[in-house]
Amino acid sequence: MEVEQALLYLQSAPAFLCYTDDQAQGIDIWSPWLKLPVSLRRSVYAHRQQLLTLMHQGDARVCPAPSKHREYWRSPRRGLQVCQVCQRIDKSIGHTDLCSSA
Ligand SMILES: [Zn+2]
Repeated sequence: MEVEQALLYLQSAPAFLCYTDDQAQGIDIWSPWLKLPVSLRRSVYAHRQQLLTLMHQGDARVCPAPSKHREYWRSPRRGLQVCQVCQRIDKSIGHTDLCSSA
């Protein structure tokens, strides 16, 4: 499954990406009530660095709560839509600083 397909799947399902304590993996899919396709899990793992970057940027495609956050989505430039709530949360837990210092 291509990464864009994985993003579309996650946007349409009751599932979203979350950080893990496992530095090697970095992210996982939160979906306690849904059996996910193996191809989705493989795609997320294979593209985890790209997806981590999207999460650090607050990219709206990985926003876990679009119905609640959509009013805070902004387009700072053409082709990019960010969620200001997710950006603030990411900054507050320190991932933005870690990302920028890496
Ligand atoms: Zn959000």
